[in-house]
Amino acid sequence: MLRTKIICTLGPASTSPDTILELVQGGMNLARLNMSHGKQEDHRAAIGFIRDAAAQVGQPVGIMVDLSGPKIRVGELEASIELKKGKTVLVAPYDQVQPGEIPCSYRLLSRELQIGDTLLLDDGLLELRCIGTEGDRTELEVVRGGLLKAQKGINLPGVTLTAPSLTEKDLSDLEFALEEGVEYVALSFVRGPEDVIDIKKRVGDRALVIAKIEKAEALRTIEEILPETDAVMVARGDLGVELPFERVPLAQKRIVEMANLYARPVITATQMLESMLEHARPTRAEASDVANAILDGTDALMLSGETAVGRYPREALEALINIGTEIERSGFLVRGPQYLTHPGMDSRGGASSQEHAVSAATVDAVRRVNAPAIVVITRSGFSARLVSSYRPSVPVFAVTTDRATYRQLSMVWGVHPVLAENIEISYNSLTAFGLKSVLSSGVGEVGSVIPVTAGYPFHQSGSTNTMRLEHLQ
Ligand code: PEP
Repeated sequence: MLRTKIICTLGPASTSPDTILELVQGGMNLARLNMSHGKQEDHRAAIGFIRDAAAQVGQPVGIMVDLSGPKIRVGELEASIELKKGKTVLVAPYDQVQPGEIPCSYRLLSRELQIGDTLLLDDGLLELRCIGTEGDRTELEVVRGGLLKAQKGINLPGVTLTAPSLTEKDLSDLEFALEEGVEYVALSFVRGPEDVIDIKKRVGDRALVIAKIEKAEALRTIEEILPETDAVMVARGDLGVELPFERVPLAQKRIVEMANLYARPVITATQMLESMLEHARPTRAEASDVANAILDGTDALMLSGETAVGRYPREALEALINIGTEIERSGFLVRGPQYLTHPGMDSRGGASSQEHAVSAATVDAVRRVNAPAIVVITRSGFSARLVSSYRPSVPVFAVTTDRATYRQLSMVWGVHPVLAENIEISYNSLTAFGLKSVLSSGVGEVGSVIPVTAGYPFHQSGSTNTMRLEHLQ
């Protein structure tokens, strides 16, 4: 029972029903559909295959729809353009571009770029510096040259853009995601809390929102974003272009630490096993990177191209599972309730001091009574996320009557979701069901003490107020 959760991006290498079934059997907890690629009908078919595979295997598997966001791109080119160091080039909106100029998807570029600002192309491989503007055109000098191909991404580190956080395409993809009933919607290029508040208003309680942290502005405002969002992603691909790459490791540690503190699930993403696009085994450096993300406290590890377009999707998943298993059984993770003394913990993450007191007592009880598991009775999943944020040393069996919560909890660290359907909604029945699930999973033995966390009255949020010690029987 791996406590670190695994997310696989699905794409041409992995959307057949057979491969999806193999990924679910192999331990994928959440499937990511990247709306920057593929058509809605293809994603709809993949959603059907994921639901079928999860039902067949009997595991909760969540689905994340990752919205493209206001990614700026180079448009179509008749031929690639050779950008030579020291030369100047003009960038213009699609409908204004002249031969030899670079077409750009962002119409307001010339108004929002200042002289001296940097423009990066193709994941930062090419670098230009703004030297002036002329109406809708921007004049730039080539600082780091190379061959520019069509449709490459454009990043503007340090530049504050006024583009809306959701494009027309995002709004259509969001409607699609909500119609399909997916568990998570990820928002790209979040700048601050207002971007999250906007999408949360549109989504309501139909899905949980993941704020992708990939801009310097988002890193600066992370403590304002976390209370608004349901989860975050360390989106290292764009983050490492928006920031100098050498700042990514500490940025990752800060985002993960803050997310743990605010009890928000956090995903570490991008280039985790990049060499497995082509090879059946990861490099030693990649194995260390994955291990370090787990040691940092990430809830989930995400594969991108490795499972979407790589040659070895199953092997990449297996490699993550093997590294995670090794780290988790080493004892490195048994650090105890590490946030108990952190300043401000009384109200962190939108939970009351009462809810924190119960969660902390639950995790503390594990050590004192040598419990092999925790049972949390939860409707929205909030109490399970809070208990998980204290990083207990044993699995958290989250008993819920809500199917969406059951699937959402699939990506929360250390949580083993259990769906209680057709069961009387009372403390006694749900607890008995949870304890039976613990025993039948092979965790603990008859007589083991299990802390059970719940709230009275049932099904009223903000009421987690009870921890009782029960016995497996
Ligand atoms: C990233 O930039 O790391 C990321 C996950 O986003 P995308 O794959 O959409 O570029």
